[in-house]
Amino acid sequence: MPGMPVTARNYINGQWVISDSKDHQNVVDPATGEVIGVVALSTAQEIDAAVRSAAVAFESWRRTPPEDRIQPLFKLKAILETHLDELARMISRENGKTLTEAKGELRRAIENVEVACGIPTMMQGRCLEDVARGIDEMMIYQPLGVVAAITPFNFPGMIPFWFLPYAVATGNVLIVKPSERVPLTMMRAFELIEEAGFPRGVLNLVNGGKAAVNALLDHPQVRAVSFVGSTPTARYVYARAAAHGKRVQCQGGAKNHVVILPDADMNMASQIINESAFGCAGQRCLAVSVAVTIGQAQQTFREAILDKASSLKVGNGLEEGIQMGPLITSESRDRIEGLIEQGHRDGARLLMDGRVERAGKYAQGNFVRPTVLDALPAASPLCETEIFGPVLSLVHASDMDEALALLERSPYGNQASLFTSSGAHARRFRYEAPAGNIGINIGVAAPMAYFPFSGWKGSFFGDLHAQANDGVEFYTQKKVVVERWGSEHSRKF
Ligand code: NAD
Repeated sequence: MPGMPVTARNYINGQWVISDSKDHQNVVDPATGEVIGVVALSTAQEIDAAVRSAAVAFESWRRTPPEDRIQPLFKLKAILETHLDELARMISRENGKTLTEAKGELRRAIENVEVACGIPTMMQGRCLEDVARGIDEMMIYQPLGVVAAITPFNFPGMIPFWFLPYAVATGNVLIVKPSERVPLTMMRAFELIEEAGFPRGVLNLVNGGKAAVNALLDHPQVRAVSFVGSTPTARYVYARAAAHGKRVQCQGGAKNHVVILPDADMNMASQIINESAFGCAGQRCLAVSVAVTIGQAQQTFREAILDKASSLKVGNGLEEGIQMGPLITSESRDRIEGLIEQGHRDGARLLMDGRVERAGKYAQGNFVRPTVLDALPAASPLCETEIFGPVLSLVHASDMDEALALLERSPYGNQASLFTSSGAHARRFRYEAPAGNIGINIGVAAPMAYFPFSGWKGSFFGDLHAQANDGVEFYTQKKVVVERWGSEHSRKF
């Protein structure tokens, strides 16, 4: 915006720099509509400069002993703990989620830092003596070099930390490209990272949009790309980076089903599903968006969820007592209002319509209240559309076979949940449900940092997932060494 200075700076080679790009974008508080910052969308030349300086830093960082590489991570954990409230307020301000939700995502970020401090153990290879007489063989893990992480708007404080601690602890140097809609959280996080004492060039921050992403995907010195975002972008990033021979892991969008059996504790189920569907205003890749009831559960669950959803306090996430914040942008709100209308037109019953009048406390922000659609016909394209807002669809199935068939047809496979008190049903669901993260009486089955964040079908492209051992494998390449040293030989020379 003319006249407004750029506030979201890049951090390249240990220096804070303002991008020269003339392509600027406002950072807007989604609850008030207030412009709280300006981000410049970095150019391909600026990305090139970041990659080149990182490549120089790699040469000494990869030679730094793992024990020394994790010391800044220990410091970073302590710094993040001290600044948790401040960072949470920033997340809430630029993303809109509640302070409690923002603190929750930061806890998972810190947990990933803690896990990566185990690198001296996690990165160990294998060795076998005497594979032939006098010959030993070992497999070691070596870092790749310059790696990049491209992240979405919905967890500005957590998702970069699915990658950052593992990338650097394993000896790589990293470039983080956060969502241009929420650049301020990572900028503050990088000010804190600076205090942790990583050598310059090891951790770099570049702001930008499509041009910056393309420059990273095409750069010959970028060896691996981690991506989280919508499925169309994930597919695109996966194909383009792979075409250049890079290692790629891309987490995409979702449409998560929860199956509710009549033997479930309906009060607990409806409370948890209410939090899953409408928490973070439904902008969570593990949010439940389709509730499949079986048998008697149809009526009891419908009554219970309407009761819970109607009492949610919606407003500015920074205010005490607010349980659900706004959507990220006014375009996102308009899109979701349009999808609610489409669902209604396609034949769904609108049991709860969350579209609000833009007046009073909802005058400026991007608010949509909880919405519940019932009996959306299977032919409606909305059945397969990721809404990514506070909209829950109710569907009925006659039995578990029909419910599982419904899940099977979904193009996504990020999460599937079941509510029941039957161990046999729970086991069958765990065994057969076609998704990478399964919840049994759990609404948001988000893996702890020491498990991989799985995801199947259109929700993930690649092999190795984010977090923990998968992260270590992703950011390293295996080398196998066969050695002969002793005088004891298996054959004569
Ligand atoms: P997005 O795809 O619009 O953006 C993600 C990143 O890609 C951003 O950094 C953005 O700058 C970049 N980008 C956007 N369009 C691009 C293009 N055409 N070419 C190159 N780069 C591009 O996603 P979003 O709206 O920020 O995030 C929401 C989406 O992320 C939802 O679909 C959600 O389900 C998904 N998500 C998935 C997971 C998971 O673990 N599977 C986690 C969080 C979010």
